[in-house]
Amino acid sequence: MFKPLPSVPDHPALERELLERWEAEGTFDRLREQNAEGPRFSFMDGPITANAPAGVHHGIGRTLKDVFQRYKAMRGFRLRYQNGFDSQGLHVEVQVEKALGLNSKREIEEFGVAEFARRCREFVAEFAAVQTAQFKRLGQWMDWGNDYFTFSDTNIAYIWRFLQECHRRGWLYKGHRATQWCPRCGTSLSKHEQAGDENYAELEHPSLFVRFPLRGRDEALVIWTTTPWTLPANVAAAVNPAAEYGLRGGDWRLAVSGEEYEHVARGEELVGLEYEGPFDDLPAQEGIGHRVIPWDEVALDEGTGIVHIAPGAGAEDFQLSREHTLPVLGPIDDSGRFVAGYGSFEGLSTDEVVEPVIEALRERGRLVEAGTIVHRYPVCWRCRTPLVFRVVDDWFISADEIRQPMLEQNATCEWTPPQYGKRMDDWLRNMDDWNISRRRYFGLPLPFYPCVCGHLNVIGSRAELEERAVRGLEQLEELHRPWIDRVAIRCEECDGEVERIPEVGDAWLDAGIVHFSTLGWQNPEWIEEGNATGAARGLTTADLPDHAYWEDWFPADWVSEGRAQIRLWFYAQCFMAVTLDGRQPYKRVLTYENVLDETGREMHKSWGNAIELNEALERMGADAMRWVYCEQNPAQDMRFGYTLAEEVKRRLLTLWNSAGFLVTYANIAGWQPEWGREPEASHALDRWLVARTGQLVSEAEAAYERYWTPALTSAFESYVEDLSNWYIRRSRRRFWDGDAAALETLWWSLVQALRVVAPVMPFLADHLWRTLVPGGPESVHLAGWPEEAAPDDGLLEEMAAVRRVVELGRQARAQSGLKLRQPLRRLVVQGAEAAQGQASEIADELSVKEVEFGPVEATELRVKPNLPVLGPKLGKELGPLRAKLEAGEFEELDDGRLRVDGQELSPEEVIVERRGKDGWAVAGEDGLTVALDLALDDELELEGRAREAIHQVNTMRKDAGLEITDRIVLTLTRDLEPHADWIARETLAERVEYGDEIRIEKI
Ligand SMILES: [Zn+2]
Ligand SMILES: [Zn+2]
Repeated sequence: MFKPLPSVPDHPALERELLERWEAEGTFDRLREQNAEGPRFSFMDGPITANAPAGVHHGIGRTLKDVFQRYKAMRGFRLRYQNGFDSQGLHVEVQVEKALGLNSKREIEEFGVAEFARRCREFVAEFAAVQTAQFKRLGQWMDWGNDYFTFSDTNIAYIWRFLQECHRRGWLYKGHRATQWCPRCGTSLSKHEQAGDENYAELEHPSLFVRFPLRGRDEALVIWTTTPWTLPANVAAAVNPAAEYGLRGGDWRLAVSGEEYEHVARGEELVGLEYEGPFDDLPAQEGIGHRVIPWDEVALDEGTGIVHIAPGAGAEDFQLSREHTLPVLGPIDDSGRFVAGYGSFEGLSTDEVVEPVIEALRERGRLVEAGTIVHRYPVCWRCRTPLVFRVVDDWFISADEIRQPMLEQNATCEWTPPQYGKRMDDWLRNMDDWNISRRRYFGLPLPFYPCVCGHLNVIGSRAELEERAVRGLEQLEELHRPWIDRVAIRCEECDGEVERIPEVGDAWLDAGIVHFSTLGWQNPEWIEEGNATGAARGLTTADLPDHAYWEDWFPADWVSEGRAQIRLWFYAQCFMAVTLDGRQPYKRVLTYENVLDETGREMHKSWGNAIELNEALERMGADAMRWVYCEQNPAQDMRFGYTLAEEVKRRLLTLWNSAGFLVTYANIAGWQPEWGREPEASHALDRWLVARTGQLVSEAEAAYERYWTPALTSAFESYVEDLSNWYIRRSRRRFWDGDAAALETLWWSLVQALRVVAPVMPFLADHLWRTLVPGGPESVHLAGWPEEAAPDDGLLEEMAAVRRVVELGRQARAQSGLKLRQPLRRLVVQGAEAAQGQASEIADELSVKEVEFGPVEATELRVKPNLPVLGPKLGKELGPLRAKLEAGEFEELDDGRLRVDGQELSPEEVIVERRGKDGWAVAGEDGLTVALDLALDDELELEGRAREAIHQVNTMRKDAGLEITDRIVLTLTRDLEPHADWIARETLAERVEYGDEIRIEKI
């Protein structure tokens, strides 16, 4: 006996139960043992930041990773399953600051850098545990507990090694340049961090028109700015040398054609003029002369065509200062507040200074106009604070020499969807030097020790640090600030003592190195728990393997992350691997777009439309969620929500119902499956289902092999549709009769289908497996991939043709208005020769007495003129022609041409409709036509009534709550007597009596 299935599955409940069983039975460990000698499939996990509970937008990546790892395991591959946590850098620091109520670097320093580092570690430990539980609940099989953490000393030392190599090649330099700066985080940010669309916001800013009086003239330049805080640092004004400027009322602005001016001059004529700066009285401005400079890039479509230049507060401004030897004034400090030298502005933030600046300009008669503007403005990718520009010293890795090798390596890599490979190329072609330094605390300590002698010492390993340290080693808890800052080393050039720079590294260095740090690149001996070092001690048991292991597993066969990672993780790992090893560290990539809410908006906690993973898992179940993710074309943004999930659950019910149907009839018949036995399949429908199942297996395999889950889900849904709405429907009678061949075929097919879909729906597939497969592998996940049956294309084609005929037959029925229960005499089929062997199936399905294959003559052509074409051509002659067409007075020629009244019409000139003649219902499509003879006689009508009665009685049985095993006494009306035996059989009646109306009585 199979355990009966309830009518609807309780997804969350059955999933929780399976999680316990997998744990108790060690299913995942057994799978790994089973594949221990299998071929290698190397997947490298992109680390997730352990700084918050995961949301549904993380679910897609987690699901895809799990789906393909499960698929590969079913094919017998040996995998590593190592999960990664991103655990240091700005992502973590900002969340910990929030949790601790700290909101500036000063507050962190008051709190204590050592304590802050410990809290960061605790915070990561907490959320790594939370996320682990979430991803387990989603069904993700990873080697939990053996995770890598990017803040381990081992990971840090591997990055040191990379940085030392960059230095050896002469790529490392300290740059003095204008950079995007977050005043809250107190650090510069690199272009790759900030490049995404999500790092911009629509903000309202002041919009000022300000007068700069020209020296020695009674005239002024009018400039436009949206950053009043930069005006105190003004040193120049730029004009477009080729543009025309006009003077009116003493003010110079870009000339507008059609307007009258007192004087018009080309921009180049203004170049060199000197003007009075807006805040010449500030100490910082002492001795600075202001002049007009040329700049081809001055925008002519907004403002006044004259741009105020403050090289210490803008990227392009800084660039111009290099070209024109302008002084650089840096008005603000790390936290975005005015420094000394700016009078009463000192200590104010860039926002707070706006009103005083406007006020001062107004007093001086310099303000022409003050308003506001809403524009797209960059905000910090981490804390959403609007950014400013500052000129600072940052550390960079030059990209010049690595760019070409990276492009060449990327060309060897297969991207899915393919257009993302081109995006990666675009990014690589345009990437700037890598800004790697951040002025923060809990991050990779950059191992740079610049000596007063001018030599830059770069440490490449922990051993080298220990060897060269002159003090501080004894207190070095881990390779983080503040402990690392207290270690001084000996300069290799002059033997003097040198200290580390205070900066930490870009977090993408942390994630980019993992192909080396987790796999033991150039490590001579395997070190147990060698990745559980520094801050990672106690959080993982991950080993540091030896170099032979790295040789085995590098490069990864496959990686998968969202599209934004092109400029982040994909870029960082490519940069680092090509530098260290010369090769791209991954051979294939699957990337995907964003997860939006059901209405297509981005999900944000503050908008109230973000969904936490746990909430969704408990509400809809993991399988339905995974299905939603897998159906999605990864090249498009996906919409995620509960309505969608309900819809998916409804569709998945067809599989459940089919399994339930099998369980019910197998139990009634006392039928038991035999594991490993192939169905005999002598009946045509059985042979077809076996072939159809083979087709599913090969379609699914093709979809998995090209990493394209939407093809898998659609192949599966169409298979289940065929199984349920064709095979089961057509075989009902056999199931009622307990036909062993039908039960065996359905069972075997369902079991293969469960194996195919197990990677996508690991819970439901295993639940049904455990219900249906006694005596086989305990879990579908241990059952391996189904062997592909030899395809039988002829049979599949035949049944596909049958289904098309039936589909059109139903359409014709629907047109006729006659119920399917009313049998008809005849169906004529033209253009489906492949279906000829199945005439009786078609007849039965459409309830017709006979099916004829041959030309359909029961149609007539209705032809109308195609007015837009024929109207202009014929003019007045159209009317008579139309009448002739309507009257059918035309001759059909070849190629769809017609002859009417001596005129030939082309197919484009007419609209042709093929309709059934009176007494026929016709339907056609793509060369296939079917015609139903609608003529009824007494015999047909009586049979129609009998079928109606069967339906009515079975409805009564259901309403009375009768089981399939219950028998009845049936009362029929006398006219149905000729069909009484048949009706009795179909309604499980023991005895028939006659009366005024149809009644049933349970025996
Ligand atoms: Zn910030
Ligand atoms: Zn030195």
